[in-house]
Order: sequence, then C-alpha cells, then structure tokens
Amino acid sequence: MRIVNIAIDGPSGAGKSTIARAVAKAEGYIYIDTGALYRAIALYALRGTVDPGDSAAVEEMLKGIRVELAFRDGEQRVLLNGEDVSDLIRTPEVSMAASAFSALPPVRAFLLSLQRDIAAQNSCIMDGRDIATVVLPNADVKIFLTASPEERARRRYEELIARGQQVTYEEILADQKKRDYDDSHRAAAPLKQAEDAVLVDTTDKDFEASVALIRSVIHKRLTREEKESPPAEKKSPREKVRYNFKKFTTHAFYLIAMPFTFLTCKLLYRVTYIGRENVPKKGKLIIAANHISGWDPVFVGSAMVRVIHAMAKEEIFHNWFVKAVVTGLNAFPVSRGSGDRRAFEYALGLLERDKVLGIFPEGTRSKDYRPGRAKSGIALIAAATGADIVPVAIWSGGKPVRAFRTHVVVEFGPVIHNGELGLTDGKKASELRSATRKIMDRIEEMWEKIDENYSR
Ligand code: C5P
Repeated sequence: MRIVNIAIDGPSGAGKSTIARAVAKAEGYIYIDTGALYRAIALYALRGTVDPGDSAAVEEMLKGIRVELAFRDGEQRVLLNGEDVSDLIRTPEVSMAASAFSALPPVRAFLLSLQRDIAAQNSCIMDGRDIATVVLPNADVKIFLTASPEERARRRYEELIARGQQVTYEEILADQKKRDYDDSHRAAAPLKQAEDAVLVDTTDKDFEASVALIRSVIHKRLTREEKESPPAEKKSPREKVRYNFKKFTTHAFYLIAMPFTFLTCKLLYRVTYIGRENVPKKGKLIIAANHISGWDPVFVGSAMVRVIHAMAKEEIFHNWFVKAVVTGLNAFPVSRGSGDRRAFEYALGLLERDKVLGIFPEGTRSKDYRPGRAKSGIALIAAATGADIVPVAIWSGGKPVRAFRTHVVVEFGPVIHNGELGLTDGKKASELRSATRKIMDRIEEMWEKIDENYSR
C-alpha cells in the first residue's frame, strides 16, 4: 500500500494539533505531534537545569536522552527515557523552554531521523514548524495552518483554563508573541510557509469547518497527484511497448556491460573478490557494503551473478551521461538526508519482486576509506520486507582508490538472516539502531580481517 505523508506547519495555537488529530482519524492516518518531541527535551533540560545557551551542556544532555513515540488507542504518547511524559510537557514553562531548545541545531538534528523514520513507515499527518520545509520536503500534501495572534491566544487560554491551570489571557498572548518571533527568526529551520504549501487561515472558522477545509485540500492534492502519475496498468498500448522496450534495453545493457566492468575492475584496480558464492541464487536480498569510492557499485555489481539494483545518491543523476550509464546499470536515485520515501517504496517494491537491492548503509563515502557509522535506513527496509542481508566489505588498504595503483579487495560475507536482526515490530528506533549496528559490525569484522591479511 502506498504511504501518504501530510505535513502541517504553523505557529503555536493555530489549532494544528486538534485539527490534525481529527483529520487523521477521519482519513485513517496516524497523527504525529512533533512539538511534543521538543517539549520532552525541554522537560529533561528543566529537570536538570540545563541552560540552552550552554552548547556543551546541551550536547552532553542529548547523550543521556532517549525520546520515543508510542501509540495507545491511536493516541500518541511521548516516552522520555522510558517514562510517559505526555501530560507533564503541557505547561507554559515547558512551552517556553521548548521554543528555546528547539532553536538549537544539535537538538533539531537529534530529532530529525526519528521523525523521518516514522514518516517513511507510516501514512501520517505530521504537524510542527519545519515539516514541509525540512523534515519531509517530499510530503504529498503540505498545509500551512494559521490564525490571528489574538484568536490563537484566546484558544490557548481557554484550553489551559479548562485544564485547571492558573494563567491570564495577557500572559498567554505575550508568551505566544515571543514564541512566534523566536520560532520564525531562528537560524535553524525557522517557521515559514513552504512554497508549495496551501495556506489555511482558521481565524473565522470553527473547528468543524477547519477540519472539513483541510480534508478537502488533502483530497484535491492527492487526486491531482494520482492523475499526474498514472499507475503502470493504466498505460496506453503504445506506452506499454515503449516501457517494455526500455526495460529490455536496460536489462540487455546491464548483462553486456557487467562482464566488461568486471574485467575493468580486475585490470584497472587489481580487484580481488572473495566469497562470491555467499550470494544466494534466488529470493529477495539486500547487499550491504561499506562505501569508500565512487567505483563501489561497480566493484560489487560486476562481481555478482545476479542483477543488483543499487540505491545511488540523487546528485549523480543530474549529469545526463552518468545518469544514462548508472540507470543502465539499474541504479536508482535516493535523496540523502531527507528520508526519501519514494526511494524507500521503490526499494520495497524491488524486494517484493524477489530482486537484489544494493545499499551503502553509511549513505556517503567514508573519509578514511574504512567502514564508518551507518543510518537506520537499511534496518527499516529489512524490517519492512523480511529480506536477508549479505554484508560486503570493500577494502583499499585505507587509501584512496586510484587506477593501476590500488589493490582493492571485495569480500561477500555469509548471509545475515533477517531473523538474526532482532526486528520485532520494525518501528522501534532502538531495534533499528541495533540491527544496523549488527550489519555494520559484520562488515567491519571482515574489513579488519582483510586488512590483517593484505596490508603489509
Ligand atoms: O507545537 P508545540 O507548541 O507543542 O511546540 C513546542 C515548541 O517546539 C514550539 O514553540 C517550537 O518552538 C518547537 N517546535 C519546532 N519544530 C517543530 C515542532 C515544534 O521547533 N516541528
């Protein structure tokens, strides 16, 4: 099933959370309130009296924080180091601290992958300040929800009074104006309307009218998107012939090109291949390799009997020649660092059809030519598909890969069975991190052994 992501941004008190929650319920999406994540960090800081101006203390503080989202009866709960703090984070004191801490780049970076991972796996409505601009720039629908400052302060005041808190309207309005100013003038991910977002002003609208308006914006956008990208089965006969021809030529190019590249690798880079027999002949499979040079997809792909579909950074598809070659070699683009949902879905589709997916879990080439830290994307894909993994170590003696001068060793390790990864529900950040670590540890172990055997 297609995953749909809807981004709703706007200033505090615009009614984002209540409206988004109701829309999500009516449309069958989960609702993610990202403000709660920043609030949880603020609560932790207030408890430990950490000053947002002390960046060393903030960085240190983040090391001790684990923020997770859980869902109880469809309602989001925020867990701070395992403690459910969903209710404790709703005080004016925490609101102000959340605004101060959310301006700090390390805090934003800390929460980014959590938000993107959730959106990659779930059809959801996510609300915040920078969802459409930073967190999910490829969201299917983007809405900027606002209302006049006075109306927003009035709503917040009534909400807090109903919860029994002792506040005045003037205090709320003043706090809100300060937060509005700080949120939109900070350097890191300021609150602003994305260019392609629809502006919805709820000043004169009641709750029902706002929900209905947003639902209709969503329906219109999604129908337009469907019309713009018709599913494969709706192709005309002529389009089908063209599509099949392209598929055939691509496949033929791959089959002809790979033996040549295999020879090129052997001659130009003196590549030694180890463990090629470890690649299963059938079934869905993820090939996970460390990344030391632009040649890696070729080193790995040309050594395999099976056709590999490698995820490659989007930037290389900007050059028409490189695009033609890498597309011919079955690579597909992924936009790095933005939780690219389309690339994720494409990868799932390949594995569903029992193909081989190639991934460099680190996402980028390592600077010291040895395995480094990986992102959880690979574990997410493994969790969603149940695919096994072949770890691959690429070694160049810790040196840059240069033609005629570098000896490269490419080792395919024994299969890591999906069950060994400890992925129970595929959504727990801690499980995803530990599965990713397991894969990278295997690659690193192989790399170290190669280093012992081949460097002198
Ligand atoms: O939405 P809420 O008022 O709960 O958010 C608390 C604070 O967290 C906001 O004032 C804002 O500074 C920050 N925030 C953010 N980016 C988000 C969500 C919230 O900076 N995506």
